[in-house]
Amino acid sequence: MMADAGSTLLVEKEYPNSEKKKTRYDVIIIGAGPAGYTAGIYCARARHDTLVLSGVLPGGQLVNTTEVENYPGFENGIMGPDLMVIMRKQTQRMGAAIIDDEVVNVDFRQKPFKILTSSEEYECRAVIIATGASPRRLGLESEIMFGGRGVSYCATCDGPFFRNQELVVVGGGDSAVEEATFLTKFASKVHLVHRRSSLRASKVMQERAFANSKIQFHWDSEVSDISGQQKVQKVTLRNLKTQEKTTLDAGGVFVAIGHTPNTRVFEGQVELDSLGYIALKDHTKTSVHGVFAAGDVHDHTYRQAITAAGFGCMAAIDVDRYLTETR
Ligand code: NAP
Repeated sequence: MMADAGSTLLVEKEYPNSEKKKTRYDVIIIGAGPAGYTAGIYCARARHDTLVLSGVLPGGQLVNTTEVENYPGFENGIMGPDLMVIMRKQTQRMGAAIIDDEVVNVDFRQKPFKILTSSEEYECRAVIIATGASPRRLGLESEIMFGGRGVSYCATCDGPFFRNQELVVVGGGDSAVEEATFLTKFASKVHLVHRRSSLRASKVMQERAFANSKIQFHWDSEVSDISGQQKVQKVTLRNLKTQEKTTLDAGGVFVAIGHTPNTRVFEGQVELDSLGYIALKDHTKTSVHGVFAAGDVHDHTYRQAITAAGFGCMAAIDVDRYLTETR
């Protein structure tokens, strides 16, 4: 999913129901990635008055990617931003309203639930939280510059674009070790760069990685710079003990240093797990009756567009049952 150019479908809103000036809905979906839009499609299609509050950057993580090859239904792949525009239009066509506004506060202690955005206060009987998660960044300027041009946060999504190249994976947890192992299917060599002298990943994953002759470990090291012409060509490592710098000829950098769920606004309103993700009670139900969650905001295992969309569908079906039962 390299480079975010090439999108041909970025047509702005075509469906007038996005402009509805209403503040009460049956269900409000917070977030507009694959989970949020799918939930919107199902809720609206079930004839519930549905609003999707999409935040200021609608589309979720897929708007920062280019080609998506593994979303079923697109034989030749599709650009990530285009896929999100299609989902958005489909959601609107089903009758959901979409407003590009950011939720700044929620009150789930009373019913109807209250949702405050930067410009409006809304009320609803049910909520689906689909705010996703954001990959942690290294914090380098060159990381931003080469985003979508060799810097990636998802090996499953982007690995196949790097056949026969040397790649760098950063991190020492399960994600980094799993991604490094996965990337050896495509790469000529994978450099795993970790800031400590031992991995945090589970023993079984470590053993698998140590046994893989394509993976070279760089201990006590960090990526200090990423450079290249149009895309990533060189990655500079700094040894944190000796300060020595090494430059690798690598075509890609996979940052796998964890994710941060976008749950800050829900703190104290619904139960979160020890990592800050929404804790689910039963399928998509949260600790608050009538509040549901879908996608990467609760799922720290699969994190795929297709699984997020699946969770969105599940949450909408759970909302449909809840609204029918509590009518
Ligand atoms: P994680 O366990 O939090 O590990 C993050 C790694 O990145 C750590 O090694 C950490 O270093 C390093 N790191 C953090 N910030 C960094 C920075 N600024 N610069 C360089 N390195 C940095 O995250 P994760 O690997 O994504 O795993 C998250 C959760 O998902 C875990 O519970 C994991 O078990 C689970 N998971 C499971 C599977 C599986 O079972 N198949 C696969 C993936 C993830 P330190 O060690 O120094 O802190």
